[in-house]
Amino acid sequence: MRAFAFLGTLIAIGGASTPFLILWFRHRALRDRVAAHRTITQDERELLRRHGRTSVVNFVGFWVISLGLIFALSTITVSALAEIVVLGVILAMVVGLVWQHLSTRCPVCGYRLGFQRALGVPARCERCGVSF
Ligand SMILES: [Zn+2]
Repeated sequence: MRAFAFLGTLIAIGGASTPFLILWFRHRALRDRVAAHRTITQDERELLRRHGRTSVVNFVGFWVISLGLIFALSTITVSALAEIVVLGVILAMVVGLVWQHLSTRCPVCGYRLGFQRALGVPARCERCGVSF
């Protein structure tokens, strides 16, 4: 149970600080607004939509897998090492989700679209104004 208390503390700290960090990065990136010098191509649009769908599917999958693992750990008796491994898997999935979400960039100006929207891809870039 110590591992769960540790994970709970990490989640609380991360959960409380993440929105402020994202806002800080977002405002920092938006200081240098640029005008869109071109529109995006159909291939770029399709790639963005694929990224958006993938982020939604990964988010839902993360919750299903994580809650299933936590439910399984709470109903069966396992060693402390097994608990730590499961918690490590969950934390690794969180890091992967955040990385995947923030890696989607505007093809015109390079702005990280994850700052602008929680899931999926926004209708337009808030930095350069190009429509997706
Ligand atoms: Zn842009």
